[in-house]
Amino acid sequence: MPIATVNPATGETLRTFDALGADEVERRITRAHNAFTAYRATGLAHRARLLERAADLLDEERAACARTMTLEMGKPVAAARAEAAKCAKTMRWYASRAAELLADEHPAPADTEDSGAARVVVRYRPLGPVLAVMPWNFPLWQVVRFAAPALMAGNTVLLKHASNVPQTALRLEDLFRRAGYPEGCFQTLLVGSGAVEGILRDRRVVAATLTGSEPAGRSVAAIAGDEVKRTVLELGGSDPYLVMPSADIDRAAATAVTARTQNNGQSCIAAKRFLVHTDVHDAFCDRFTEAMRSLTVGDPLEESTDIGPLALEQGRADLEELVDDAVGRGARVLTGGRRPPERTEGWFYEPTVLTGIDATMRIHREETFGPVATVHRVANAAEAVALANDTPFGLSSSAWTRDEDEMALFARDIEAGGVFFNGMTASHPALPFGGVKRSGYGRELSGHGIREFCNVTTLWYGPGS
Ligand code: NAP
Repeated sequence: MPIATVNPATGETLRTFDALGADEVERRITRAHNAFTAYRATGLAHRARLLERAADLLDEERAACARTMTLEMGKPVAAARAEAAKCAKTMRWYASRAAELLADEHPAPADTEDSGAARVVVRYRPLGPVLAVMPWNFPLWQVVRFAAPALMAGNTVLLKHASNVPQTALRLEDLFRRAGYPEGCFQTLLVGSGAVEGILRDRRVVAATLTGSEPAGRSVAAIAGDEVKRTVLELGGSDPYLVMPSADIDRAAATAVTARTQNNGQSCIAAKRFLVHTDVHDAFCDRFTEAMRSLTVGDPLEESTDIGPLALEQGRADLEELVDDAVGRGARVLTGGRRPPERTEGWFYEPTVLTGIDATMRIHREETFGPVATVHRVANAAEAVALANDTPFGLSSSAWTRDEDEMALFARDIEAGGVFFNGMTASHPALPFGGVKRSGYGRELSGHGIREFCNVTTLWYGPGS
């Protein structure tokens, strides 16, 4: 894929960039390595001041950042501003909480005295330069939710961002530099995916985090495995959204629209499969379908737009294939199912609701990365759980019920990194984020996220130390 900003609302190429050559990549890895030696010795208070300064800059430049994101990947500009604000909030959260999250641990002497220790300290030390391979769908957030904790822990960052968001990637590098980070602490590498292997195999690059598709995750994990380097993988999702008879159906249907269509439907944690109890199926379906039909599809730079274009032409083609395959095998289209006829430019797709899904359809197993929902009728909670788990993915889930027994069942049996009751899945700096099964492994955010790229070091002091 060329490294370029192509406005998905018009198809116009706005800027193109040359990929960095091997010599420049080598220079930047050297810089990241050298920067780590000095940066790891700085104190948490110093690192917190740098991160707070980055948050301040991001707040000051929120509108400009948002416009760049919208032009590069088509998200509604109000959502882009909200993304920038959330990034600043997360930077401040880690700046203020890292000392507590990374505090030395002191195992109880009674637990360790038979090891011969006079005392033991467990310390979270940084690892070194970490490679971050990131996707375009939340071009600021995906990077910041990794980089803020990684930098607070004392690591340095090499960012290989998606090829269609180069200006956001460069803006991030510039922002961290202006915030006062020493040269080499945060660098953007404008390279294609083919360059990832060489970077990851460099002995100075100690670990990698990848957010993106399953094939990309598998490839990076295989290389990292071969090199015995730590990875975190945040991959795709096909999150279930369960609606049971005791739920507030109006709220469940209204929230379902946001849960499915946020970010033009291109979110890993978007609700994608709606599993609705037969007693409330028709009422939910009517409200949900009507609300999906009434969304405004249009120019993402307009404040009134609900749904902009898909970010990539190929992304729309992939989505169309999934819908066409389902319809060809008997699925019913309740609304949408096509490109908006009035939009002749750009990569738009109508908000779509499908029913009559069965296991022969690709859409049953694959991720729909766009504003397409499938609604399934279930007879009871056990059937809902079975269908919820009948997917290769396990990122998050949402369950609408006021029945305590159902809540306990869902909390125990849904195979996912999260179960959100009577609300939609959303990430938050204080809550662990990540999946199971083909959605990846490791966690971001919270204390779990900051410790992923730490060397958990046992300091054992013998008698007389
Ligand atoms: P993608 O095609 O996998 O790209 C993600 C990143 O990986 C890009 O930087 C891409 O570079 C790079 N890449 C692609 N193939 C690679 C390979 N074989 N080796 C090394 N790097 C490679 O994914 P996307 O289309 O940008 O994003 C959509 C996917 O990300 C969806 O499946 C979505 O669910 C998932 N996602 C997951 C989360 C989560 O937290 N779990 C969050 C957001 C998105 P190029 O751009 O240069 O190809």
